[in-house]
Amino acid sequence: MPAPLTDLSRLCIHTITTKPWSLGECIDNYTAAGVPAITVWRQALAPQGAKESGRMLRESGLRVTSLCRGGFFPADSQAKRQEAIDDNLRAIEEAAEIGAPLIVLVCGADPAKPLAESRREIADGIVAVADAAKAAGVRLGIEPLHPMYADTRSAVNTMGQANDMAERIAHSHVGVTADVYHLWWDPSLEAEIRRCGSAGKLFSFHVCDWRFPVRDILNDRGLMGDGCIDVPRIRGWAEESGFDGDIEVEIFSDKYWSLDQGEWLSKIKAAYLKYT
Ligand code: ZN
Repeated sequence: MPAPLTDLSRLCIHTITTKPWSLGECIDNYTAAGVPAITVWRQALAPQGAKESGRMLRESGLRVTSLCRGGFFPADSQAKRQEAIDDNLRAIEEAAEIGAPLIVLVCGADPAKPLAESRREIADGIVAVADAAKAAGVRLGIEPLHPMYADTRSAVNTMGQANDMAERIAHSHVGVTADVYHLWWDPSLEAEIRRCGSAGKLFSFHVCDWRFPVRDILNDRGLMGDGCIDVPRIRGWAEESGFDGDIEVEIFSDKYWSLDQGEWLSKIKAAYLKYT
């Protein structure tokens, strides 16, 4: 087990975790609560645009950990795949504008075709944007998603697949984002996290918990300590293999979004120190 987290210095919160708040409210409240880092979802950028968002973030002094999300490369026509590539190029520009060093890729899947074909289109899409990402100083993290999402959200479903893909693409700015929600069940997780970290490819690390039973596969994520994921153990594997970046709390939850968000933020801080 890794050493307990005794302060908030590596805590990053995703804007989606406090979805009822605007970007401005996230910035004000995170800063006031002593949260040093933020991952920004693109919908939080939309109302004021990336440029103004970048100004707000720089002024706040918050560390921007990443921009969520790019990806969704597979599609049923070449024109749509090109649209996805163009959208990822826009995301790279946005990331540069807000000072985000990383874009998390939710890679996508086309339910009309075999998963292996979706995976080929994902790899082709990443290759198509990787040099632009490098030129902008932005890295790309392939985030494997739980197999329940293999229909439309991602054909990359294990850490092993993400590692294989990053290894084949072999680009300095392409690596992997590990999210405990998607990966905790995988018997090869420890070995694959160690493989990723020791290759210098573990670009970011997302935490939450798996409630039992899950009431909704999308919007019922738990807070660390609510469920059955041994978050500290998985964090330990990541850190032993060299990861020392931010620990990002990413929680989609109708239950928690319905709380007073200030109260919710206090719960997040407490759970981060106790169960992460
Ligand atoms: Zn995630």
